[in-house]
Amino acid sequence: MPHRNSAQLGDHLEALLTGFPMARSLSWDPLGFVRPFRNDPRAAEIAGVFAATVAVGNVKTIHADLQDLFQRMGGDPRGFLERFPSRTWRFRLAPWRHRWIRADQMGFLALRLREVYENFPGGLQEVVEEGMRTPGAGSDMARGLDALSRSLRHGGLEAPRTFYEPPPGYAALFPSPLGPGHPACKRAALFVRWMVRRTEPDLGLWTRIPPAALRIPLDTHIYWIARHLGLTRRMARDWTTVEEITEALRALDPWDPVRFDFALAHTGISGDCPKRRDISVCGRCAVQPDCDLWAGRWRRTLPAVPAPLRMPTPP
Ligand code: SF4
Repeated sequence: MPHRNSAQLGDHLEALLTGFPMARSLSWDPLGFVRPFRNDPRAAEIAGVFAATVAVGNVKTIHADLQDLFQRMGGDPRGFLERFPSRTWRFRLAPWRHRWIRADQMGFLALRLREVYENFPGGLQEVVEEGMRTPGAGSDMARGLDALSRSLRHGGLEAPRTFYEPPPGYAALFPSPLGPGHPACKRAALFVRWMVRRTEPDLGLWTRIPPAALRIPLDTHIYWIARHLGLTRRMARDWTTVEEITEALRALDPWDPVRFDFALAHTGISGDCPKRRDISVCGRCAVQPDCDLWAGRWRRTLPAVPAPLRMPTPP
């Protein structure tokens, strides 16, 4: 059941968004690698898939590794895909690596994307839309993300299977909300948010899917703040929690429920919120009246979150 801590939460989130240093956070966000391509929807989509797939872990490491990956693609992911030599897919991006994500997996993703575009001229929007329209278990967006993940994994929807077999661990990069354990699928939800939302910082390139259908990309930072603002009481960071937090936010803005996602996530990522009661910081926090931690309200122990980062001045 969706709930929230105070009737004024919507106004407070609005104040947070209005005063948020968007340019500072964008200079470190993976979305910063996609925005330069926004005038070419296909190029933005390709850049977005690679950027979202790598969006796991520390934001500084993500930034450095994405910079390296895009340089290896000649700064032109679409051209890279179109000219990608199929025979050398295992080695073309080596020795690039981001945590457990390897160059051969990114090479295979390039092959898969090229196949998906051959079979779906409307691109990944068509894949997600078709999934949302197909009757079945789960919500419309759960089915849309499931279709997206299947198409990127191997032989999704009606796409033929590629001649090449995926490298070890490749399929695990694209979980589905309908899969075992119903994972939150943060990276897929984030990619779709970038493509669908019509206002900054997102790109609004997928005009056939309404922002109202989006779900919150649930990472540790969003989970932490959602718990303390009373948007969820659940302990599990799974798809059910995604639905619950989104439902609570939908009560504030039915047409664009994930409007506050960027500001809320970066409040944690940037270290603006110290994740403890600190009068020198909390005193000027826009959502302080809604925050359980500030109010000293009892909570069961939350799972550990990464230490916040203090961002250097954008380059
Ligand atoms: S009141 Fe303090 S702990 Fe709560 S969200 Fe704001 S900065 Fe973070």
